[in-house]
Amino acid sequence: MTRQNLHCHTTFDDGKDSPEAMVLAALRAGFGSIGVSLHCPIAGEDAWTCPVGEEQRFIDEMRRLQTAYAGRIAVWCGLEYDMDAVRRSVPPYDYIIGSCHMLGGFPIDADPEEAALLIAVHGGERRAAELYYERLSAMADYPEISIVGHFDLPTKYNERVQLYDTAAPAYRDAAFAAMEKLSAAGKIFEINSGAISRGWRTSPYPEPALLRHLRDIGGRVCICSDAHAADAIDCAFDRCEALARACGFEELWQFDGRDFVPVPLI
Ligand SMILES: [Zn+2]
Ligand SMILES: [Zn+2]
Repeated sequence: MTRQNLHCHTTFDDGKDSPEAMVLAALRAGFGSIGVSLHCPIAGEDAWTCPVGEEQRFIDEMRRLQTAYAGRIAVWCGLEYDMDAVRRSVPPYDYIIGSCHMLGGFPIDADPEEAALLIAVHGGERRAAELYYERLSAMADYPEISIVGHFDLPTKYNERVQLYDTAAPAYRDAAFAAMEKLSAAGKIFEINSGAISRGWRTSPYPEPALLRHLRDIGGRVCICSDAHAADAIDCAFDRCEALARACGFEELWQFDGRDFVPVPLI
């Protein structure tokens, strides 16, 4: 199996390195293809998203790299869409990841204090989780979205401070319902190691109980590092692949330039 990573960031949003540095890192790591996924413009959030005026420049640079590296590595121009995006219709990207980074104007994964504040203003962890998964599951109605980004993002800090009891029936019901709705709409779920490379977690998103449920309902997965620096391009891919196998998945879904196709997980 040749590895593919469709989720990473660059200096066009909150990443540390250029798109070309990410492509070169993917080449060094032996990937067959690499997609850079721009954080879409969100009003008032230029600190971590791409400003509206920069979007075309990003697309032009990705198309340049696509041509420059043809025959060595496939390069795709992606978007990490957000439910708080400036607009629904987007310029022509090769594929789109759908994510939810904010709830009621509060960041979900800025730091543990902000995450705790988000829970408090939404009336407790149970209600916050229900609102998050309701909002995320609305992406089922967005046919342009292929991949669900970091499905259980609110649990980012749970290994340090347990903000959500993920074994609680209410939490599990909300997560399962969103998973079932999104999977029925054909969305692929990423196994995402982004919080591992940034030192917050030792295990990827989503947690094993959710992945096992996804497997039980016939869901599909891919593996992404959500790297924000070139040296994290293949962070914990071994661990993600082992987790997928342990949860019963026998294949990963990879983008081939037109569609997502199954690749045996061997
Ligand atoms: Zn994200
Ligand atoms: Zn991302």
